[in-house]
Amino acid sequence: MGDYVKIILDKNAGFCFGVKNAVAQTLRTINENPNKKIFTYGPLIHNRHVTEDLKTKGVEEINNLTDIEYNNSLIIIRSHGVPKSLLKEIVNKGFQYVDCTCPFVSRIHRIVEEKYDDGYKIVIVGDKNHPEVIGINGWCNNEAIIIDDEKMVDKLPYYDKICLVAQTTFSKNLWHSIKERVKDKFINADIFDTICNATENRQKSVTELAQKVDVMLVIGGLNSSNTIKLYEIAKHLCPNTYHLESAEDLPKETIMKAETIGITAGASTPDWINKEVIEKMEDFNNENIMEEYEKSFKSLHLGETVIGTVISLNDEEVFVNIGYKADGIIKKEDLTWDMEMKVSDLVNVGDEIEVKVVSINDGEGNVVLSKKLVDADKNWYKLEYAYNEKTSVPGVVKEIVKGGGIVEIYGIKTFMPASLFDIKYVDNLDSFKNDKIDVRIIEFNKNNRKVIVSHKDYLLDEKEKKANEFWTNAEVGQRIVGEVKRITDFGAFVDVGGVDGLIHISELSYSRIEHPSEVVKPGDKVEVVILALDKDNNKISLGLKQTMPEPWSTLENKYNIGDIIEVKVVRFTNFGAFVEVEPGVDGLVHISQISDKRIAKPSDVLKIGETIKVKIIDINIPEKKMSLSIREVDQ
Ligand code: SF4
Repeated sequence: MGDYVKIILDKNAGFCFGVKNAVAQTLRTINENPNKKIFTYGPLIHNRHVTEDLKTKGVEEINNLTDIEYNNSLIIIRSHGVPKSLLKEIVNKGFQYVDCTCPFVSRIHRIVEEKYDDGYKIVIVGDKNHPEVIGINGWCNNEAIIIDDEKMVDKLPYYDKICLVAQTTFSKNLWHSIKERVKDKFINADIFDTICNATENRQKSVTELAQKVDVMLVIGGLNSSNTIKLYEIAKHLCPNTYHLESAEDLPKETIMKAETIGITAGASTPDWINKEVIEKMEDFNNENIMEEYEKSFKSLHLGETVIGTVISLNDEEVFVNIGYKADGIIKKEDLTWDMEMKVSDLVNVGDEIEVKVVSINDGEGNVVLSKKLVDADKNWYKLEYAYNEKTSVPGVVKEIVKGGGIVEIYGIKTFMPASLFDIKYVDNLDSFKNDKIDVRIIEFNKNNRKVIVSHKDYLLDEKEKKANEFWTNAEVGQRIVGEVKRITDFGAFVDVGGVDGLIHISELSYSRIEHPSEVVKPGDKVEVVILALDKDNNKISLGLKQTMPEPWSTLENKYNIGDIIEVKVVRFTNFGAFVEVEPGVDGLVHISQISDKRIAKPSDVLKIGETIKVKIIDINIPEKKMSLSIREVDQ
């Protein structure tokens, strides 16, 4: 080994997202189910060390459900996935399962199932013996055609509807040529590029690394196809390339002479095997290689802002390469404050993003990152601007706390006192939780990061804006729509847009009413006519009855002199009794027309509210007068 040895670990080495997920879920399942017998359907990953470790934890590998003798069994489905029929069989046999199928593989299952049901011929580009391909075929009733080179496309019969998917680890170049051939032959082919970028990224970075080093070590299971592929790529560029399963396989002589050593690892190789390899290299020459290895990574500090590249994502998380020995994870809630957005609408694989380090280790070896915090830093100026310019900003009520609530604005947490949630007093703030509301910033202190906001101020501003708009545009005689806010004995107050107007009781209806509540109630939306405006005193008089036909105007040809009609006695005067002919139309029975006998006053004979028969003896519509007689009814 040279005087100074440089170790470079490939930034994409080791567990991919799907494998990391499967191993973490399996370890969690073991811990959470101490009384269950746990099996993996096939080896969890292609790594002898991991499978042996699982064995010591009591996990057994099966390749057939008949291998299970225990009732209380739980089966782990590995990241490759399985046919749909196998999941059904597990359930039918009364076993439980934990599905660790990689989300990228599950997506292929969904595509294949949907397209098969829709009458498409499914063609899978991949290795027909690979468990992932066998699993995919099981989601289209095992009727897929499996191809792995372009010539096989020429032999395919013609199908009207064809759907092409790829094994996630298939060679990108070969996929492209097969895909082009399929496009030429099948005009309507539905093609889904389902190759996983984890593989491509790892292959790309090993291509770069192998050209810069004296010795290249490719760590991973001897039967792992993706590790073998890495070895082949590296060997082509660096003749001193070795495929190792563990530190035991290190080529000591070659290592001792090397000055620069590159290390990569297959998708199924855990970090601890990489470390073991490096520790063993230290033993060769007592050099502190581990230190060098650690140095090859960036150091990270809590709260630090770093730039990373998105390596994969799913509905809940984004995985980011930040040049550190472990990948970073951004959970959806740390990515955006708009939880209705989809992760895939916000970032794409390959994007460079600025993130803040929230935790160096989430317990599963990942660095926890937040994009929201970086955005929040950048968004302080937006809050400052909104404060200075007195403009409103959108927020979400995240939490109700003592004395108020936490409102998140552009990822920044602000406080809203209870009294500022609404114009009126709010009894229970819980009803605001998770509400999206607009607020005004009423206190802003960037130095101690204190921001006080008010929804009430926003509402008052809006009210004022609407009121100004009303006074600018309102005219007497105009018809407008408003909402009844409150009722008193003398009328109803109606919000006509930031201002309240009054419909006096006499303007509510053409018929006589005792109380406004006979016509309207709070919350009613009503069309009204502006009767008078007094801006100086902020008074608006409204009329409701003016929006309805005037009752006398509808009487033409309805009643004739001599008609006998039923009416209701409504009011007495010295000279007779007023009766209601119909709502809004009163007639008079003169005292002389009430009875054949002489009477002192109408109440001697009639009662208020009584229904009586009368004869029409005169009608004058323009003057709104109708003369009626009781005496003449029988004549
Ligand atoms: S290689 Fe890609 S598809 Fe396969 S398990 Fe890993 S992340 Fe999932």
